[in-house]
Amino acid sequence: MATIDQFDFAGKKAIVRVDFNVPLDENGQITDDTRIRGAIPTLKRVLEGGGALILMSHMGKPKGKVNPKLSLAQITEAVGKALGTNVQFAPDCAKAKEQADALKPGDVLLLENLRFYPEEEGKPVGIEKEDPAYEEAKKAMKASQKEFAKTLASYADCYIMDAFGTAHRKHASTAVIDEYFDKDHRMLGYLMEKEVNAVNAVLNNIQRPFTAIMGGSKVSTKIGIIENLLGKVDNLILCGGMTYTFAKAMGGKIGNSICEDDKLDVALAVIEKAKENNVNLVLGTDCIAADAFSNDANTQVCMANDIPDGWQGLDAGPETQKAFAEAIESAKTILWNGPAGVFEFDKFIGGSKAIADAIAKATANGAFSLIGGGDSVACINKFGMADQVSYISTGGGALLEAIEGKELPGIAAMA
Ligand code: AMP
Repeated sequence: MATIDQFDFAGKKAIVRVDFNVPLDENGQITDDTRIRGAIPTLKRVLEGGGALILMSHMGKPKGKVNPKLSLAQITEAVGKALGTNVQFAPDCAKAKEQADALKPGDVLLLENLRFYPEEEGKPVGIEKEDPAYEEAKKAMKASQKEFAKTLASYADCYIMDAFGTAHRKHASTAVIDEYFDKDHRMLGYLMEKEVNAVNAVLNNIQRPFTAIMGGSKVSTKIGIIENLLGKVDNLILCGGMTYTFAKAMGGKIGNSICEDDKLDVALAVIEKAKENNVNLVLGTDCIAADAFSNDANTQVCMANDIPDGWQGLDAGPETQKAFAEAIESAKTILWNGPAGVFEFDKFIGGSKAIADAIAKATANGAFSLIGGGDSVACINKFGMADQVSYISTGGGALLEAIEGKELPGIAAMA
């Protein structure tokens, strides 16, 4: 594999897989530009080396169909601002050859959302897995995925993978396009390098105590990493909506709180495994309950296992926040993924703020803190505390899979 430091970009066109899947508000304004900023060092290296850039990314989940709300046209100006240059836009990522051919050194072309084409993800559309024709459709889709990747590759002389946030996906632009560049013309970008180093800092050199904080809405989407972490950490804080699945599993009364009734046994198994592994499992005791899922709701502090009918737990209570802070402040390695409450509403941000404050304190005392996943990163940025933690990852799922020790297809394909 070539390296971005050594490659001579003079007069060359580089197609770069970036992760510009940034959150937008209802007016199409970017609410957190961490991912755009993360890609800039790689992009500047190409431009300063005398090359031209073709940028490709996905945004959201358009499921293989054009969806103007997920158009990357909305972020062209922001990318230009971050790069300090004008950015051209190609409204159809699979029909951009002419625009790509016309690029001169220093030019930048952003392609439209790759996922407007089902070929990007490579999953057959409009056919269920149970359908007898599914296997045939899958084969046909794999073939057109290769064609799609080949088209993208035809725009450029070299390929750079710098989309850590999607490196755990085997998609056309992350792990198929590589085939169309030889080893001397494909490379990982600076962001990938930085992210992999941050993961290694956690995995290969764990300073104890190691505290992981897993939040968010559901147990089901995090159970893989939770089980994995139970073999690695000293303290495991489980917070957010997950709290109530655990509370119910232990016989608690949770009112209208979010709960996965089919995961109660999974929750009990996590509690058991934590005991077996001598992991200090920290679950919410009290909570801020609300009489509606709204920022205007009435609230009260109550026990997470004794929530009145008609009320729902939307944030960690004061006693819980204190317990979280204790498990974090004493740590020397910290991993945080997922908010402790419905942080989108200012009324329910206290639990996440308590976590962020404790992480900042521990980091100031020499701990290594790694924050990943869109929502926790959005929290840290909302609190203006990005410079008080060790590393903010642009990856959510990719970060967790890397921490689990899984090989990421976006890296493996480069070898
Ligand atoms: P996830 O996508 O699973 O990481 O979950 C992130 C989402 O969890 C955020 O949008 C939060 O608003 C939501 N969340 C956190 N705590 C709760 C809660 N107690 N009830 C409902 N949703 C929650």
